[in-house]
Amino acid sequence: MSKTTLTASDVRDMMLVVADRIIAAEPILTDADRALGDGDHGLGMARGMTAVKEALAEKEFPSPGKVFIAVGAAMMSSMGGASGALFGMLFRAGGKALGDHQSFTSVELAALLRNGVDQVMAKGGAKPGDKTMVDALVPATEKAEELTDAPLNEAIRQVANAAAEGRDASEQMIATMGRAKTLGNNSLGKPDAGAVSVAIIAAAMADYVAGE
Ligand code: ADP
Ligand code: MG
Repeated sequence: MSKTTLTASDVRDMMLVVADRIIAAEPILTDADRALGDGDHGLGMARGMTAVKEALAEKEFPSPGKVFIAVGAAMMSSMGGASGALFGMLFRAGGKALGDHQSFTSVELAALLRNGVDQVMAKGGAKPGDKTMVDALVPATEKAEELTDAPLNEAIRQVANAAAEGRDASEQMIATMGRAKTLGNNSLGKPDAGAVSVAIIAAAMADYVAGE
């Protein structure tokens, strides 16, 4: 059944689906980072999402925001690397922005993404076009902000599509941040690994909300 609002335990279940999807995608993420970086992104994300599963499984959370904060903390403490800190911040800052709201709707989706991506950009220093996870996060955030009046199931699917388009657009960018920047023009034609992760996370969230 497709949902238009999520409780804290729905958000927990959604993030457990996300964790399984990222763990299953480890080889894809490894290949993406091997092409442009050092190849550890798949392992790092799988380790982070294993920690997320341990932090969330069979626990009750007082609000959706607290679930995302727990996700961020688990990623931050287990992953290491650039993406551990950045994905950790994304979920922690995003979760904090939700306060004690009991429901997660398209309004909270936009707040989660806006506060998360702003924190990632402030701390990591990447801007749109630098060929990083930001290039999937910014279009996803802008789409969420356009769709705060839409039901969550519609908004989150379009947000996931925007993240996938951002991932695809990153193929045509020249890396100017992170390890890939030393490749210069040779970074063209491949997507950024972090953007691939963002697209997988967003698609998994949309599938959960759609009841798929
Ligand atoms: P590391 O770069 O330490 O090996 P990972 O391989 O796990 O870490 O993650 C690499 C991804 O992290 C990149 O594909 C990119 O999306 C993201 N990333 C790296 N540095 C930054 C940054 N300064 N700002 C935003 N994202 C970044
Ligand atoms: Mg790497």
